[in-house]
Amino acid sequence: MVGTAYVYKKHTCIADHITVGDAETAHQMTLYEAASRKVQSELQHLEGETDEQAEILQTHISFLTDEELAEEIRTEILKNSKCAQWAVESVYGQVIETLEASSDPVFKERIADITDVRNQLLMELRGESSTGLEALSRPVILVAEELLPSDTIAMDPSKILGIVTERGGVTAHMAVIAKSMAIPAVAGIPRIADAVAPGTELVLDGQTGIVYSEPDPAILDEYEKKIQKYSRKRQIEKEYLAKPACTSDGVRIETKVNLGSTDERELAAAACSDGVGLFRSEFLYMNTDHLPTEEEQFTAYKAALEALAPRPVTLRTMDIGADKQLPYLSLPHEENPALGMRALRLCFEKREVFRTQLRAACRAAVYGNLQVMFPMVSSVTDVIRARQVLAEVARELSDEGLPFRADFPVGVMVEVPSLALMAHQIAGQVDFASIGTNDLIQYLLAADRDNPEMAAYYQSFHPAVFRAIHMIIGGFSAQGKPVSVCGELGSDPQSVPILLGLGLRTLSVSPARLGEIKYRIAGMGMAQMEQMAQAVLAMSSQEEVTAYLEQNLSPSDTD
Ligand code: PEP
Ligand code: MG
Repeated sequence: MVGTAYVYKKHTCIADHITVGDAETAHQMTLYEAASRKVQSELQHLEGETDEQAEILQTHISFLTDEELAEEIRTEILKNSKCAQWAVESVYGQVIETLEASSDPVFKERIADITDVRNQLLMELRGESSTGLEALSRPVILVAEELLPSDTIAMDPSKILGIVTERGGVTAHMAVIAKSMAIPAVAGIPRIADAVAPGTELVLDGQTGIVYSEPDPAILDEYEKKIQKYSRKRQIEKEYLAKPACTSDGVRIETKVNLGSTDERELAAAACSDGVGLFRSEFLYMNTDHLPTEEEQFTAYKAALEALAPRPVTLRTMDIGADKQLPYLSLPHEENPALGMRALRLCFEKREVFRTQLRAACRAAVYGNLQVMFPMVSSVTDVIRARQVLAEVARELSDEGLPFRADFPVGVMVEVPSLALMAHQIAGQVDFASIGTNDLIQYLLAADRDNPEMAAYYQSFHPAVFRAIHMIIGGFSAQGKPVSVCGELGSDPQSVPILLGLGLRTLSVSPARLGEIKYRIAGMGMAQMEQMAQAVLAMSSQEEVTAYLEQNLSPSDTD
């Protein structure tokens, strides 16, 4: 990205330290409560552009509504006679200190959020106005020491060509939000906010993390060409997005999307797809403080089904447990949660929770083309048990005389390697399979998908992954049952020819990749894909596979 620098120096909030007399404490309490309500309502009115932003806003609101924090501030004001500003500064300051002392990266990431909420409260109490980032008049490259979540949410993405910061890493909010808004960002460049003068010409390479200040003409020329190439690519992807996906020799490939909510943006993204191949129902359980009721679930499923009809929506039943915990559903501590009480196993344990979800699904099925699939299935017995619960729920709804359907296709997610080995037997019990490569790879290669230290072992292009997929397709195809992939591997352009060459005819991808994946599908004929898939099956390491793909895919497939 090429542009001029806008150096953003954040105004630091300094609190007044005033000891107040007894007569004044009630007034200070009122000031604090009013400020807290005001910031809360401002946050509620800020609609996050993306899911990531909406989640951050929710986190900030949760600090403001946190009873313990509010109680501590009350004590500081009423018992320790501090003015409201001072009380906010000390209580939030203590939390920040505790988080800073922690070695847990998740806790550390919360520092930016809590600092942000503290600053907003202090600004409100001091009657100071906000950052000014929302008032940028022309597109710039934003240079800052650090961007807090509220800065990134306030800014208009069409005015930000790129972001460079001194602090923050790839997992920092700034990076996550910038990625979700497709803004190139580079973090971790020391002293950049002092080194760059406002208006300096910059080249920012979000892929390599290099920033050139006042670049020489050769660099400028190189990057202008890159930018042109990138925008041509985006244009082509946009054109392909609207068309059905076909290989260059005319084999039609179903391209569905993975959805994690029913908000308008997500549903709009599904408009150019052949349906929803993975509807992650967990969002209903996670963005709330209670188990979603049958009515709440029914409303959400019905909305998705009606929006997509007549295209299918594949509802994955609750995949809670392991990395996805619910604060209101206390689950016992486990030494190995990824191998423990999660997803379908938890549904068997909490049968009422499972039954509620299936009742809502059966009732919503009347409004569109529903398919239901179960996650973390590890045996034929699991499938039989799950289907029994479904049959029981259908009998009950019929007795109650409520409108419902239970004749929809029922499938499994193949995430546990045992299912690959038993594909033929499982196929006999269900209508379809969807391969969850994110978990399948973790279990197949015994490498934790969430542990960055294990990244070198979590090999998506390990030949064993393709062999397992080959086995699954073989077992299901022999019985005429469809198979798709809904894990991230299906959204990786490099893996597309291999997956299709192995026999897949349906991919379910993240909505942001849909155009790109359709474009890649169109770039090759089936005979060549099959030949590549056979070659990959015979290989012995990920290195061999990736070297082969680099040689055999055109540069635009590998960049
Ligand atoms: C998967 O495991 O591939 C999958 C799609 O499910 P999740 O990423 O939600 O576990
Ligand atoms: Mg999974």
